[in-house]
Amino acid sequence: MDNDKTRMTKSELMTNDEIGRMAFRHSGFGILSLFVIWTLSFVSVVLLPALQAADNLGVLGSKPKWVVLENYQRTITRDEFAHLISDVYCTHGFAADLIKIDNDAAQILTNRESHNVFTLQFAPDANSKARIPRLWRPAKSLPAAKPNKPLAGLRVALDPGHLGGRWAKMEERWFQVGETKPVTEGDLTLRVSRMLASRLRKLGATVLFVRNSTQPITSKRPGDFKELARKILIKNGLPQPRVGGDVLDPNDSEKQQTIRWQSEMLFYRYSEIRRRAVLVNNKLHPDLVLCLHFNAEGWGDPANPTLIDNNHLHLLVNGSYLQDELDLDDERFEMIRRLLSRAYDEELAIADTVAALMAKATGLPAYQYPTTLTTTKVGSSGYVYARNLLATRLYRCPVVYCEPYVMNSKDGFARIQAGDYEGIKEINGAARKSIFREYADSVAEGLAEYYSKNRGL
Ligand SMILES: [Zn+2]
Repeated sequence: MDNDKTRMTKSELMTNDEIGRMAFRHSGFGILSLFVIWTLSFVSVVLLPALQAADNLGVLGSKPKWVVLENYQRTITRDEFAHLISDVYCTHGFAADLIKIDNDAAQILTNRESHNVFTLQFAPDANSKARIPRLWRPAKSLPAAKPNKPLAGLRVALDPGHLGGRWAKMEERWFQVGETKPVTEGDLTLRVSRMLASRLRKLGATVLFVRNSTQPITSKRPGDFKELARKILIKNGLPQPRVGGDVLDPNDSEKQQTIRWQSEMLFYRYSEIRRRAVLVNNKLHPDLVLCLHFNAEGWGDPANPTLIDNNHLHLLVNGSYLQDELDLDDERFEMIRRLLSRAYDEELAIADTVAALMAKATGLPAYQYPTTLTTTKVGSSGYVYARNLLATRLYRCPVVYCEPYVMNSKDGFARIQAGDYEGIKEINGAARKSIFREYADSVAEGLAEYYSKNRGL
């Protein structure tokens, strides 16, 4: 693989999926800054003017409603709050004026311009905590169930990552080796989700799909974001940004500077995931969301991809916010709301259990992030990290985000090419279940184990 960083394509830089950490700030004057941080093997910050703004929001973010947090007064003790801030959500630190933790209350800055703060009163002790308002139910609040129906009454939403189909090339989740079938993550995740749905239903769960086709949830399309994309690029020092042509050249080293690339990303990542969040939060009301993905390492030219030996597994829960993210008013609000909902306690325990079952079934080692700049290892399994992804932050319930299998590993690729089949086949010299069944079976077993052990009486 080409190690020249300036020539790396997005898929090489974004080996671990999701969130190019792009954020830009809105004000009465429009967008003031944009920065893109490519995580993983290195971090490069592109275009980062230090400008102040009245409303300081993430990409396509909306103004936070701090008053909602009044419902969480006296639901948490000082010790619990301080622990979640320092060990889960703000592991990379934060500017001193953003959050102040006193003995009886925390002061959280709502807007830097106005110096307004939200005051969160702590519960004096563990026995006098007010009830936490939330729509989802932790395992312990579900009544006991028959041994063969450990998920009875549980509402699980399945969120197959990406779109696949005709969008796979645009979302850079497409590669093809010679004349073999193209590998498109969005189609693989949908296939696994459908298999998983039938397994979970057999265990008693009510299964909801966040996406159950290759059509986007958002009604917007890249064309709707051209003007916004143009403004972003201009504000970042490109007075005459390139349009980018009718079809984007995946190997164009400067494609990120085109209106086309920016507007497509605004569509398939930011608009799409934000609409999925609206669906989850306002309509589906699940007790748990499972985000299903396949991982990849940099594959270079999608038409002539690099296959590697490395294959691994990890799971993600929300946390580990970067200082720049905490500076954004909406992300800081969403972080505090998530912390107060105590989704972490539930999602971490589920993730650890599912990870152990997936590790056993797949035989995959735990992925080790090459830097600790964006993630924090949490839990006891060794496979779970906290990371601030859009989906794990915005879905208002426990979210477990699965990243098994490197699609462009030699083993992963061969197993994907083998397709789905019953029983065991020899693939790459090893006796293997179908990769799709192995994924779906192990997640279902993990949930069955967790809920069997943790439901109420
Ligand atoms: Zn993915």
